[in-house]
Amino acid sequence: MPVQVSTSERVEVRDVTDAVASEIPADASGVATVFVQHTTAGVTVNEAESGLLGDVEDVLSQLVPEGGGWAHDRIDDNADAHLRAMLVGNAATIPVEDGDLQLGTWQSVLLFEGDGPRTRTLRVTVTD
Ligand code: ZN
Repeated sequence: MPVQVSTSERVEVRDVTDAVASEIPADASGVATVFVQHTTAGVTVNEAESGLLGDVEDVLSQLVPEGGGWAHDRIDDNADAHLRAMLVGNAATIPVEDGDLQLGTWQSVLLFEGDGPRTRTLRVTVTD
């Protein structure tokens, strides 16, 4: 089943751990793949501390400035979003045991929104 996440800002990083966990069957064990079906959003695993989430936005903005003379901006004014999403990556893999994501104490599943606000779709699959 897809996980739908509605974002509220053009650029934001949000914790989607609970939404992803709700898609894991209770008896599943193996490896979960969380895949974002977009070219201007990404997914990763890290700490969902509010200052750090802001730091992620800041570092991506510094590395890939909006309006930085990108070729894609000539046809679609969102090259920064595509490039930042590629840096974040479009999938995360997480071990699963008996239906529970085996995340570390400080780990959360984070969605990077690069060109919101939009509704984003995450596909969660578990393979054994
Ligand atoms: Zn584009």
